[in-house]
Amino acid sequence: MAAAADQVIAEGKRRDGAALVCASGISPSGPVHLGNLREIMVPHFVADELRRRGLECRHVLSWDDYDRLRKVPAGVPSNFAEHIGRPLTAVPDPCGEHENWAEHFKAPLRAALAKLGVEVDEISQTQMYTSGAYREQIVHAMRHRQQIDGVLGRYRTKKAAVDAEVEQDDEDLAAASAAGYYPYRPYCEVCGRDSTTVVSFNDASTQMQYRCECGHEGGFALSETDGGKLVWKVDWPMRWAFEGVTFEAGGVDHSSPGSSFTVGSQVVREIFDGLPPSYLGYSFVGISGMAKMSSSKGGVPTPIDILEVVEPAVLRWLYNRRQPRQSFSIALDAEILRLYDEWDALGRKVEGATATELEVAVRARSLGPAAGPLPSTPRPLPFRTLASVADVAAGDPKQTLRILQDFTVGEPLAGLDEAQPRLDRAQAWVSTYVPAEERTQVRAEPDRERLEQLSPVKREALKLLLDGLDENWSLDGLTALVYGVPKIQAGLPLDAPASPELKVAQRELFVLLYELLVGRDTGPRLPTLLLALGADRIRSLLTVA
Ligand SMILES: [Zn+2]
Ligand SMILES: [Zn+2]
Repeated sequence: MAAAADQVIAEGKRRDGAALVCASGISPSGPVHLGNLREIMVPHFVADELRRRGLECRHVLSWDDYDRLRKVPAGVPSNFAEHIGRPLTAVPDPCGEHENWAEHFKAPLRAALAKLGVEVDEISQTQMYTSGAYREQIVHAMRHRQQIDGVLGRYRTKKAAVDAEVEQDDEDLAAASAAGYYPYRPYCEVCGRDSTTVVSFNDASTQMQYRCECGHEGGFALSETDGGKLVWKVDWPMRWAFEGVTFEAGGVDHSSPGSSFTVGSQVVREIFDGLPPSYLGYSFVGISGMAKMSSSKGGVPTPIDILEVVEPAVLRWLYNRRQPRQSFSIALDAEILRLYDEWDALGRKVEGATATELEVAVRARSLGPAAGPLPSTPRPLPFRTLASVADVAAGDPKQTLRILQDFTVGEPLAGLDEAQPRLDRAQAWVSTYVPAEERTQVRAEPDRERLEQLSPVKREALKLLLDGLDENWSLDGLTALVYGVPKIQAGLPLDAPASPELKVAQRELFVLLYELLVGRDTGPRLPTLLLALGADRIRSLLTVA
């Protein structure tokens, strides 16, 4: 983000030292997904970089809540379809707890931003348009409609076949109807929808007449009455000029030739006497590891759902460690264990002073914004360990603390608080994203039949293990013990290197232990599982009568 920040500074100088403004725009038309979060995170990290350099920077979040409802998202009753065409703030709230549709979808994103330490100045476009803030700009655009039509016409022939923009091009074409081109659409005063066509505009009086598909014909003076909005390709550049935006990011498709950014760059110069912002295109953010999830768990997780299992600093890191043009996926299956391992490894590198300058900078920016670090876990035990403990202890706080204290024998955990908020995330991950058939089910009763049929060698192995439990009751001790039992049986010293035969014997013992303890041939790492079960339970499940 350093290079992007340099460009924004240059952009500010080009504008005679104008204030630095990073802008994001979100349409609260449905659940705001992780891909949309990048729309906020890229400008956030640029603004943050500027602030770290001691510069003032405003990060504006424009809620495009005066946009029309285009379609009813999955999970919302289909009778909401009657509101299609109305502004998002004029559609009722689907749950009944919020002021309207737009607020319903803003709320979870706001909560996620607060947890991520992302500070923004929110601007409601409904508020701006309906309060008349843009009246002058609307009248100006209508008076210069032929010039705008000319600019847009230069690109229309280039046929920008970009999926994401098809609807906007439809809107653009609709604006250029038989009655002439008008870069403005009123919401119908009778049905409230934007299924309207402007039929005339008087440059002098600013009187605009329209026709609606509902049959209503009406009109009002744009210099006096507010009740519609500029079409997207004119609205966006108008706001660049209005807010003095010096940096904006957008999906890579917005920056292709003929896209709204290219067209907007011309419109802002030629019509609004402004400059386009410095711009960065960003790529897709996906989710992986959802294949095994049942659809009953709901749709695609949103940022606030992800924060249930990923610490805010780690989520910041995901958006921060790659260039915006690189796409990436957030893994919700067992890959998440590796994500936390990598994050912890970076922390050790930084603390051990072996990290590169770039790694140090990336980690500092992930831990929190320039204003200060976000709350972090005082004792960040490996997520992998916490997940295994959560799996075995099944949420019992007493048992969880007992196990975690066994994991931290040198300096035992004083209370579960020290492992928070990471512990809660591990518990949420196990209960939400680990399929039931992969969760650990500790046997309630020993498998007596199996125990009785064991060969003398296997019986001896179990006895050696049980006899060594107390003496080796720590993660390291139990690791040495489970690997060591086959060595003792082969008459080898405990530090003997693993021969192929030894590896086979170890593997056989591990499978036997898993089967006797959890009834499957795999499970959490054995030393972790043993610690989690506790010596009494292990004895009850492994003792041959
Ligand atoms: Zn609601
Ligand atoms: Zn109507």
